[in-house]
Amino acid sequence: MTENKSGKHEFQAEVKQLLDIVIHSLYTDKEIFIRELVSNASDALEKLRYIQQTEKNIFDDQLPLEIEVKTDEEANTITITDYGIGMTSEELTENLGTIAHSGSKQFLESVKKGAAINENLIGQFGVGFYSVFMAAERVEVLTHSWHKDGEDLLWKSDGSGTYEIEKVKGNRRGTSIVVYLKEDDKEYSNTERVKFILKQYSSFVQFPLKLNGEQLNTVDAIWLRKPKDITEDEYKEFYKFQSNSIDDPYYRLHFSSDAPIDINTLLFVPTENPEIPGFGRIEPSVSLYCKKILIDDKPKDFLPDWLRFLKGVVDSADLPLNISRESMQDSTLTQNLGRAITKRFIKFLGDDAKKDKKKYAEFYNKFGLYIKEGVSSDFVNREPLQKLMRFETSKTKESEKISYDKYVSRMNEDQKDIFYILGNDREFIEKSPQMEVFKSRDIEVIYVYEPIDDFVMNNVREYDGKAIVSIDSTDVNLDTSEKKKGGLKKEQADQLCKWLKDSLGEKVEEIGVSKRLVNSPVVALNADTLMTNSMKRLMKAMNKDSADTTKVKLEINASHKLIKQLDVLREKDEGLAKLVAEQLLDNSLLAAGFIEDPQNMVGRINDILEHVSAK
Ligand code: ADP
Ligand code: MG
Repeated sequence: MTENKSGKHEFQAEVKQLLDIVIHSLYTDKEIFIRELVSNASDALEKLRYIQQTEKNIFDDQLPLEIEVKTDEEANTITITDYGIGMTSEELTENLGTIAHSGSKQFLESVKKGAAINENLIGQFGVGFYSVFMAAERVEVLTHSWHKDGEDLLWKSDGSGTYEIEKVKGNRRGTSIVVYLKEDDKEYSNTERVKFILKQYSSFVQFPLKLNGEQLNTVDAIWLRKPKDITEDEYKEFYKFQSNSIDDPYYRLHFSSDAPIDINTLLFVPTENPEIPGFGRIEPSVSLYCKKILIDDKPKDFLPDWLRFLKGVVDSADLPLNISRESMQDSTLTQNLGRAITKRFIKFLGDDAKKDKKKYAEFYNKFGLYIKEGVSSDFVNREPLQKLMRFETSKTKESEKISYDKYVSRMNEDQKDIFYILGNDREFIEKSPQMEVFKSRDIEVIYVYEPIDDFVMNNVREYDGKAIVSIDSTDVNLDTSEKKKGGLKKEQADQLCKWLKDSLGEKVEEIGVSKRLVNSPVVALNADTLMTNSMKRLMKAMNKDSADTTKVKLEINASHKLIKQLDVLREKDEGLAKLVAEQLLDNSLLAAGFIEDPQNMVGRINDILEHVSAK
């Protein structure tokens, strides 16, 4: 404990920005500051209770683990006191002078990136302790750390840019936060008003919560109660309190079991996706308890990463209490627990998806990304997770989605594979030459619109024993029994292919006669088995100067008029025939989404027009 922490300090620049926003721009829902302070007090008590399991040498060890709120209308103050772990002077600086808290950090980042400052945003990230300055003129934090040699300290600030730390006399262990309210925010020193606010979540606080001496709650853990004894409102309020959220829970899963492991679990899916694209990954936040004692509120390697959107509590009496958090994370028991809960949650989603399709569809629109992430990263649960995926297809209406199971159930009799295609939108896909044979044969094709979908489909190439095949790949194998009339004969067609290969040279890997084309003369297929066309498009877009790595296989439609005429033309006017061949190749690349050197193309079209008009 160093002396030099006493005196005046500047807030970290980010804290200043945050405080500026909190003080000047946040007006709605000011009362959340009380919840934030009570939640910090509760955290501090949880931490102390955890330390008590192993530490004997604790300052003021006889103090009750409780939270005391005091209002003083005359002085216009509200004081929140806990007998938790308290803070040393370093901790005061670290915790209340910088942004350590990931929520406030994300909050600030989103504001910097232009997000609207409103209660939704605070709800998503929480501004934690600093929210007190929405209603406070100034704040005093009196504290004494649980360490035997801790000091009695006073931290104070008016939120305008600096804070002071000084030594005082006579603090008990824990922390007392005295909020000197603004004139306009007198309501928060009014006992009745504060009682109303505290009552909303008091029953979820795991310690006695007292207001001016009167205990407001009976301490019990909601997750240990029987679901039938809990009202919807209680669940909602618990979700909000426990996860610091302002939205309502969307799904809820509350269950207990005692074999093979003792588990009491209460999980929530939020209504809003807490991870805003572009703002970084959120941390997993299902808390681990052992018999109501919090072991870790953000356990890593407990649930798989794709479940990081889940909120709630897992309590297991089988967890060893007296080992460190680090070894807790490696323990097989924690991992087994995580696995069992993951399985159960996946099953829950599947069941609920059947019960209420519309509700699930909405969930999938917001949270589908996590499911897809799970499919490609969670090997143990791959197939059950694939069952949770939903797609538009050539046979659904726009934005109506079906599952793999539905797709498989209506596959054609002789169909072996599951087909999909990635495109910007429905219209683009439906016009593409690759779709022709699927349309004419009435084979359903899954439509996906995001590179991530393509990545997942291409990464996990199987479902229910069936290959998942992109229809722009050369793997598409549909044998046509019906011979089309009037096409080039086999030798003719083969010779034309050979001539085309000679004329086009390096630009194509291989040329063959197509079985899949109906209306288009040629189609460009991806000859690269490792990368789909769309992935290549993406790589090209990211790295514009990269050498062209496109390897295509060209298939010609031997029944198409243009192809038949080209076969005649190459005898009569090879120069023009070559131009036409090159243009056909470019057309097919265009249709596949590769715009190849438009400059060259325009020149060539002009040449062709010259020839044609000379005839
Ligand atoms: P969070 O609670 O999400 O970490 P806050 O901004 O609410 O973020 O609090 C910042 C930090 O300040 C906490 O992580 C904790 O270390 C410390 N802190 C706040 N209140 C207390 C308290 N009553 N007792 C001990 N430490 C506290
Ligand atoms: Mg907090």
